[in-house]
Amino acid sequence: MAQHFLLSAASRTLSLRSIYKAGEDAAYETFCQMRWPETGGEAVCPCCGFDEAYKITTRRKFKCKACHHQFSVTSGTIFASRKMDFVDLLAAICILVNASKGVSMVQLSRDLDCQYKTAFVLAHKIREAMATEVHTGEVLEGHVEIDGAYFGGHIRPENAKKDRKDRRLKRHQTGKRRVVIAMREREGRTLPFVGQSEAEGVALANENVSRMSTMSADEASHWDELHMGWHVDRVNHSDIYSDHGKHTNMVESFFSRLRNMIEGQHHGVSPKYLHQYANHSAWLEDNRRTDNGTLAHIVVSNAMDAPVSRNWKGYWQRAA
Ligand SMILES: [Zn+2]
Repeated sequence: MAQHFLLSAASRTLSLRSIYKAGEDAAYETFCQMRWPETGGEAVCPCCGFDEAYKITTRRKFKCKACHHQFSVTSGTIFASRKMDFVDLLAAICILVNASKGVSMVQLSRDLDCQYKTAFVLAHKIREAMATEVHTGEVLEGHVEIDGAYFGGHIRPENAKKDRKDRRLKRHQTGKRRVVIAMREREGRTLPFVGQSEAEGVALANENVSRMSTMSADEASHWDELHMGWHVDRVNHSDIYSDHGKHTNMVESFFSRLRNMIEGQHHGVSPKYLHQYANHSAWLEDNRRTDNGTLAHIVVSNAMDAPVSRNWKGYWQRAA
């Protein structure tokens, strides 16, 4: 039997040892290469686009020879105003792409020896870099499976039976329950969204799935509407999970990863961040057969392309 990809040497092309052995200068060079690939890592002014700059090597800054604007390799990117060393940033990315079910922020802060909140914001910025590849704006094509799964809002039952409430009633719920609706190409991308009810998936399919596609869905009655737009394979999960190629197994395996990530690593998440974990999971799912060195480069490259994060820049300063 063929060896599983993740057990093969080809899946391991980057390690923490190699990152730290190569050191801070090499890590910095990696960020420059990814930021300015068209000039081979030579600085390009983000203000005027001129490709000659004075190097202020002591502070790792540049000064544009044309407009005198001062900038660094991370100016205008997700990692703008970073305080962490480049080698630690690269290590954080390595840890995150290696963890197939995500990694808790306590663990990341211990691995990097940084504060919990530093790890929290950093990981969310890295998820944002991943999300740019998940939400490309292109419609899904081919055979597309759709499904939803609910997360959050768990209410622990009271200790004594006489104190317990009917947790099915709306007035006893926390309002934190959300559904992740995911559409997944059988041979390609996974596209998740967060909503209040699974029925919102019909509108999402209308926006994000090509009319030439075939869709697969389970027996839930709100998916009946999909038949108006597509040929739809339905599978009734109370009878059978896979019926001669009619199944939603691909999208189910995305939910399995997401559930493992949220319950196993993060121990529940707030509805505010659920979309970030869904994007992280989708990215891992879509890249499950890519070696970890390539994955780390993809993340750095996306981060260097992505504009300053509006959500995460100065997050803890605002929260305080
Ligand atoms: Zn300039």
